[in-house]
Amino acid sequence: MGEVWTLAEFRHGELSSVSYELLNRGKNLSQKLDTALASVILGYDIKKEDIDELIARGADKVYVVDDKNLENFLVESYANVLIALLDEYKPDIFIAAATTTGRTLMPYVAVRKKTGLTADCTVLDIEEGTGNLLQTRPAIGGNILATIKTPNTRPQMATVRPHSMKPAIPDKNRNGEVIYKKYDESLFKTKSKYLRFIKDESQQVTVQDAKVIVAGGKGVGKEENFAIIDELAELLGGAVGASRDVVDRGWKTYPHQIGLSGKTVSPALYIAAGISGAVQHIAGMQTSENIIAINKDPDAQIFHLANLGIVGDLNEVLPLLIERIKEY
Ligand code: FAD
Repeated sequence: MGEVWTLAEFRHGELSSVSYELLNRGKNLSQKLDTALASVILGYDIKKEDIDELIARGADKVYVVDDKNLENFLVESYANVLIALLDEYKPDIFIAAATTTGRTLMPYVAVRKKTGLTADCTVLDIEEGTGNLLQTRPAIGGNILATIKTPNTRPQMATVRPHSMKPAIPDKNRNGEVIYKKYDESLFKTKSKYLRFIKDESQQVTVQDAKVIVAGGKGVGKEENFAIIDELAELLGGAVGASRDVVDRGWKTYPHQIGLSGKTVSPALYIAAGISGAVQHIAGMQTSENIIAINKDPDAQIFHLANLGIVGDLNEVLPLLIERIKEY
């Protein structure tokens, strides 16, 4: 049985925490298959601490390709290196996060390896008896969950929704093997050329990285009323989230949307104001550590999930909350 591989994301000198979420996913798979769990890290000037962290978070092996040519992400060169690694080590499973990098790179690699790829999975498991990877994701407009297999080709490849699982907890006493690989310059000859990196400054909202999210639903009433949600989020140093109904009405833009067809988040605190708790909304925030719900309907679904529920009008509750926070 081949190994289970996860792609560690290393950009601009930093290892993304999504790499640890993947290790948590991968651990379950490698244990069921009784095989090694490995992380692959590509980039330039990769720090030893980052490699040690991958081992502490569950990697039995780390494949490292540290090359000046990999300083900036170019799908062709990254794919060339990954394919060389896959051809040499033949893992059984290879997963990456459904981030911009994962979504760009994995289809490119899958096509060239002539294997299947399931995008944006929310659940991964192993089929008893066959050892096939069961790749589950919402399908048909989010109305069903489809489980997909790749029985005849290897590696079995999938991208996984970021923040749909907690990062693996580090254990500094773990040991792992580190395999450094060097590749010929020919592998880095690409048709496309890296010119420069332009940061998207327009998108201030980073719900996926926020520790606190204050989310508003249709119960907020109208666009102007969102000022109170914005104010509370700012006071708590958090980000503003929204239900789909809010985004459809144009009260907030799509990057704020939480849920099945929006972002999946897992903050320390999620405050849901005027949100009913539809299954599609919950799909995007149910892994939040603490949930406070404010809703005037005592039977609202969101109360089944909330750690603290406040039955009341958000226009009364939120100003009181803001006032108390300001006192501190
Ligand atoms: P409502 O369900 O209308 O709830 C409004 C709530 O506000 C009610 O519970 C009401 O009691 C309360 N309320 C009203 N006034 C006040 C007040 N003054 N104070 C306090 N409470 C008040 N939804 C998402 O959110 N994210 C998604 O990504 C998403 N994807 C979807 C994908 C598909 C394929 C489908 C079919 C649906 C999707 N939806 C998604 C829509 C989802 O089904 C719900 O329609 C939506 O989440 C409802 O939004 P809401 O809670 O803001 O509105």
